[in-house]
Amino acid sequence: MATGNAIRGTRVGSGPMRWTERGEQAPRRSVTYWCANGHETTPAFAAEITPPTTWDCPRCGLPAGQDEQAPPERPRAEPYKTHLAYVKERRTDADGEAILQEALARLRQRRN
Ligand SMILES: [Zn+2]
Repeated sequence: MATGNAIRGTRVGSGPMRWTERGEQAPRRSVTYWCANGHETTPAFAAEITPPTTWDCPRCGLPAGQDEQAPPERPRAEPYKTHLAYVKERRTDADGEAILQEALARLRQRRN
């Protein structure tokens, strides 16, 4: 009985939340990180792993550290770099998609 439940609990996609409901998950600890913009994030880690020294801030994408007084330096000076990077990323994806479609079309033509 217990073994069957344990196996089901390890299924991909049904992980941590179900374990939390059942109250059987491995012990966790929350670690607080601060980024250079003063954002605070508190991800939880399994107690047996060593939390990383830095964590990407979910709000602005800057690296965040465990020392509130000395957060990691922002990689670049532009404060809105994250948004710009996002736009660039999107454009790159769109370009990549167009290139892919073009290549596929060419491939199909060659076959016909
Ligand atoms: Zn931040």
